[in-house]
Amino acid sequence: MRCKLCRQKAVYAPLRFCKEHFLAYYEKKVRRYLESTHTRNTSILIGVSGGKDSSALAEVLAGLAEEYGLKLGLLCIDLRIPDYSDKGTAVARTIAKRTGLKLHIVDMRDWPRATPDFANKKPCGPCGTLKRYLLNKVAVEEGYAFVATGHNLDDEFSSALHNLFQRNVGQLRRSQKKLPPRPELKLAGRVKPLYYLTEKENRLFCLLRGIPHDADECPYSMDNPQLSFKKRAVFGRDEKRNLLKSIEQLQRPAPDIPVGEEAGSLHACPSCGYATTSKDACVFCKLMTGER
Ligand code: SF4
Ligand SMILES: [Zn+2]
Ligand SMILES: [Zn+2]
Repeated sequence: MRCKLCRQKAVYAPLRFCKEHFLAYYEKKVRRYLESTHTRNTSILIGVSGGKDSSALAEVLAGLAEEYGLKLGLLCIDLRIPDYSDKGTAVARTIAKRTGLKLHIVDMRDWPRATPDFANKKPCGPCGTLKRYLLNKVAVEEGYAFVATGHNLDDEFSSALHNLFQRNVGQLRRSQKKLPPRPELKLAGRVKPLYYLTEKENRLFCLLRGIPHDADECPYSMDNPQLSFKKRAVFGRDEKRNLLKSIEQLQRPAPDIPVGEEAGSLHACPSCGYATTSKDACVFCKLMTGER
């Protein structure tokens, strides 16, 4: 198969691109995200796990940082999952060296009470909470305006569909492609620059650019209900993109009501001061005090 633009050998069958044109397409999608969300002249803490998505994200953003005026840093949370976390942390260190970005590491040995019980059959719920909490906490403490995650089109599509199936409309309205910072709630903003790129495209970007990444999945991923749902949600790239675009339209705020207000009653946790939707202390504080 030949590239549809230059007739060189194609490396990406779905769009018939050669290496050079695939890399240009990939970067164009990230530029489009930054431009459509007006993400410029700001600071972003990128969560890196060592997997293909977050590694690709760190490298592509590092390449665009100067042009878009982005001050970037990396955060790796070492969950201490046996036979898994060490590899991810090692990759994060290599990515930091390659990109020259500052790497913050949170070692779960420092948070023994909050560490999910990985022997438990369902560690993913608390693990996800913990990762979101710590990413935000480090961003706020270190002065980053936004956190960036490697969420891709497949992740966003399956979580949107899951929320629809669960009638989880509040969550659906909150999971937008960009959320602004809310300093009064110690809440960093959120950006997902790989929002319109698929998992396959991120993997290929890593391979073509020689970006190190750990191809292994977390040993608990089989117990992760969101991941198993994702495997069932088999649709084409355009269908996925179109569903997300439809949801974006639905997410536009109703007149006079800011989306953040309407979508959930976010307030400051009485114990740690970070934003939460739970009625009293946030889940993290409950974990710390053994209430959960
Ligand atoms: S699969 Fe579950 S346990 Fe493993 S890192 Fe993801 S959320 Fe945590
Ligand atoms: Zn080409
Ligand atoms: Zn709290």
